Amino acid sequence: SAGYEDPENVLRDADTAMYRAKESGKARFEVFDSSMHSHAVALLQLENDLRRAIERREFRVYYQPIIDLETDTVSGFEALVRWYHPERGLVPPDEFIPIAEDTGLIVELGNIVLRESCRQLREWHSTSSLKSLTVAVNLSAKQFAQPNLVTQVKEILRETGLDAQYLKLEITETVVMENAEVARTMLSQLCALGVQLSIDDFGTGYSSLSYLHRFPVKTLKIDRSFIGRMGTNGENSEVVKTINTLANNLGMSVVAEGIETEEQLAQLKGMGCGFGQGYIFSRPLMAEAATQFVQEQQAFVVSNLIDDSLVQSQLQMVN
Ligand code: C2E
Ligand code: MG
Ligand code: MG
Repeated sequence: SAGYEDPENVLRDADTAMYRAKESGKARFEVFDSSMHSHAVALLQLENDLRRAIERREFRVYYQPIIDLETDTVSGFEALVRWYHPERGLVPPDEFIPIAEDTGLIVELGNIVLRESCRQLREWHSTSSLKSLTVAVNLSAKQFAQPNLVTQVKEILRETGLDAQYLKLEITETVVMENAEVARTMLSQLCALGVQLSIDDFGTGYSSLSYLHRFPVKTLKIDRSFIGRMGTNGENSEVVKTINTLANNLGMSVVAEGIETEEQLAQLKGMGCGFGQGYIFSRPLMAEAATQFVQEQQAFVVSNLIDDSLVQSQLQMVN
């Protein structure tokens, strides 16, 4: 046995064992072992660090461009949170979002990301000619289950002065399917605010388009595992093609996630996929670098406008 001296430790370990048992399936119980103990200590440490990180503002929002594949221009950015841990350096979200979820800290963290993303987008709108840029912010299950989520989103939009139509909220299909009734109410209220809704990582969960279609969801993001499997000779691209066609038929737009190669990009363009995101265009960028990306894009747009007006004046000359 673990040889407990402090009853609180027994409770803590029992909690962890129960949590594990729950995680690994019903009708099971698990005995606490020492590797789980060190795991539990690491988690507690991380939880502690997370609380402190919120106070010390150690989080940064990175922005990854989402490209309109028809025009090759940036249509917006996805906001992706990063944690600059004083000792561990840059911690990726997969390592702390689940803990932030379990401890409820995600609500505060989520609001930080949402507020900063809206503020940043507002700044881009006011300093560039790209007035229709959007920002997509991820919502976790816990955030989505907050009864006052709509009030919070509304308040942040008001504070930052961002028009709701430029904000997109991403949720996974699992979150929608697992709480269908709550989700329906929540999604309708968010939709009524004017915010756009996207399904993230599509294909990894229930993948019922006909069902999802009954919710006010505008955009489908195809999980990058599907894009990654598309071969150079068009192998495995049928699934992506089918999802794209069905989504378009249902009036939804599609974003292909995780595009890394020219072949994948060419295939996606070939099947008429509307939007793309991935390392081939850009990794997630710090705000400053993203601003530069916006400026380059703006230069591109302006030069196209000049081209257009040249063509027009030439046409006028011909006439
Ligand atoms: P996601 O929402 O599906 O975000 C896309 C992830 O794919 C990002 O990972 C991005 O860096 C990565 N990615 C983009 N293009 C490529 C590519 O071409 N190849 C590969 N291999 N990866 C690519 P990241 O930033 O590590 O985020 C991981 C997940 O953490 C996100 O997945 C999202 O579920 C969650 N997350 C990130 N930021 C937040 C946040 O502010 N709030 C919440 N609730 N979750 C967040
Ligand atoms: Mg996302
Ligand atoms: Mg995704």
